[in-house]
Amino acid sequence: MTKILIVSEIQNGAIREATYELVAIAQSMGGEISSLVVGGDAASDAEQMSQKGGGTVYVANDAALANYNQDAYYAAVNAAVDAVGPDLVLFSHTSAGWDVAPRIAAKLDAGIVTDCFGIAEEGGNFSFSRRIFNGKMEQKVVSSGGPVVATVQAGAVDAFDGSSEGSVTELSVTIGDTRTTFIENKSPEAQGVDLTKSDVIIAGGRSVGSPEKFEEVINPLAGILGGAVGASRPVVDAGWLPHECQVGSTGQIVAPKLYIAAGISGAIQHTAGMKGSNFIIAINKDADAPIFEVADLGVVGDLFEVVPALTKALEAAKG
Ligand SMILES: Cc1cc2nc3c(=O)[nH]c(=O)nc-3n(C[C@H](O)[C@H](O)[C@H](O)COP(=O)(O)OP(=O)(O)OC[C@H]3O[C@@H](n4cnc5c(N)ncnc54)[C@H](O)[C@@H]3O)c2cc1C
Repeated sequence: MTKILIVSEIQNGAIREATYELVAIAQSMGGEISSLVVGGDAASDAEQMSQKGGGTVYVANDAALANYNQDAYYAAVNAAVDAVGPDLVLFSHTSAGWDVAPRIAAKLDAGIVTDCFGIAEEGGNFSFSRRIFNGKMEQKVVSSGGPVVATVQAGAVDAFDGSSEGSVTELSVTIGDTRTTFIENKSPEAQGVDLTKSDVIIAGGRSVGSPEKFEEVINPLAGILGGAVGASRPVVDAGWLPHECQVGSTGQIVAPKLYIAAGISGAIQHTAGMKGSNFIIAINKDADAPIFEVADLGVVGDLFEVVPALTKALEAAKG
């Protein structure tokens, strides 16, 4: 039977939703599931994991694991790998996941497939689905012999929400000197936008082009609809808008009544943050853009024509 090891992540004192997405993938493959939970005191998280599909849960409690540190985290995953002897090791495709996964692959002399959105068993091997070229194409990668290490995009599948009876086993981990020391977690200073409280969000993507174009094209539509301005990650990375405007797996998770995505491709990391919106309108000049898969209404067109026309029509309707 295929042995799958899930490496969980704790954030703000609770197991991340993305970990339960790994559980959903593992459960769908029907293998023998084990999980690793690490933390300063992760006993209750481990218990929860064992009841929510995590199978045999190994828990590593150590003050050095209270905050993410690559060497300490690696030591724990390493011990879990030795205990389980997995055919497949699953990490979330997060900063921690992509930091440690390659090191574990090197230790196991295993192949690694990153940033997957689906995994299945195929003729005794694993088949991994990934998006490439900015989501324009899908790639299928098939392993030839194990073990294999994979990282999975957050939001790629629905989180497992069933229940199960697993077990919790204490894992002994030796953490030696670490090359880095945790100092503090710092949150960016809020600049007044709380997208999670907005009923209407007008989000612009990289193709808007500049902060001035946001002011000129996106902001007026948000103004007339009484909505807030959101953005995809490249917009925030470029410094055009503050981080609290970012929607997606590493930004805000929003569910407004109306979400308008203008010039946003619809990468999984973005849709993970907005697909729960009540009504989604997508404007994109590429008819094959993945954003149309989650849209209730799609407009294939140039945002610089469609958005101002929509704003003008709303202004006229409002008098
Ligand atoms: C770990 C990780 C976390 C991430 N987290 C997030 C996240 O939280 N949020 C997020 O958004 N992304 C996130 N990303 C990035 C994500 O993968 C995509 O790269 C990003 O969402 C793409 O942004 P975009 O759609 O604005 O840009 P692009 O992918 O460049 O797409 C631009 C789109 O605009 C369209 N377009 C171009 N010109 C026009 C025009 N004139 N009119 C209409 N349409 C036009 C194009 O057809 C295209 O579809 C993350 C990535 C990683 C690896």
